Amino acid sequence: MATEAVTGRPPLEAKSPFEMRVHLGEGVAETDVRSALKTGDMGFLHSFTTGSAVDGPGIRLVAWTTACMFRCQYCHNPDTWTLSNGIPVTLDQAISEVRKYSNGLKAMGGGFTLSGGEPLMQARFAARLFAAVKAMGVHTAIETNGFYGENLSDDELRNIDLVILDMKAFTLEQHKRVTGGLNNADVLEFCNRLAELKRPMWLRYVLVPGLTDILEEMEAVADFGTSLGVVERAEILPFHQLGQYKWERLGLNYTLASTEPPTREQVASAVAIFREAGIPAD
Ligand code: SF4
Repeated sequence: MATEAVTGRPPLEAKSPFEMRVHLGEGVAETDVRSALKTGDMGFLHSFTTGSAVDGPGIRLVAWTTACMFRCQYCHNPDTWTLSNGIPVTLDQAISEVRKYSNGLKAMGGGFTLSGGEPLMQARFAARLFAAVKAMGVHTAIETNGFYGENLSDDELRNIDLVILDMKAFTLEQHKRVTGGLNNADVLEFCNRLAELKRPMWLRYVLVPGLTDILEEMEAVADFGTSLGVVERAEILPFHQLGQYKWERLGLNYTLASTEPPTREQVASAVAIFREAGIPAD
């Protein structure tokens, strides 16, 4: 609370990642930002949230990073795209935050998840934080779009118990359409590397009527997932409009304003595609 009073920043802990947070790291000098990215001594976080039941196994403490280069049309947290929207947090501070909850997380069979934004845009911070959390004996997970997987070494990946890969698409054309023009070759390569290293994975796929509810695309993602041999589960996330107000307040062009969430039947059909490919899905 003292920090809040001095800096005027909101508390590190948020009620939910749907809180709009902007400009919180803008006072940090450019040289300090560069040094933070190089060393991982400091990270930029939207917030920490507690009690999540949807970001990995059990109950999770989640740290939400800022910075993401994808521009997914369905992104529900576009305030996390910009590094300087996040609160500057030292590595020690982040480790202490996790330590506060470590016994409870272990007792409840939960763990710590680093999400975003795209956590691997702050790869040094992520790698060092995961190493510290792993040393506490707490289960670790990352939610990533996979584009910057090469920023972690094999040893660093072994400190992450579960990689939750947000698969936007399988084909290049569809990936570009969903993300605002980004290539997915590096994403697929990262998945193959995780398979070679036998790192457990979950796949996530956001179901957006009219954008991602393409049968061939979902089948291709599911078949690719099966081929990896390390995918334990797939989660179909129904599109929702909780982030719409953020797009509007940030002055961004939101293309899905009139898109409805998928029906129960549409979600069930998507789940069935992954199950038919041999991946437990819900
Ligand atoms: S990868 Fe995630 S954070 Fe980045 S734009 Fe897409 S949905 Fe948003």
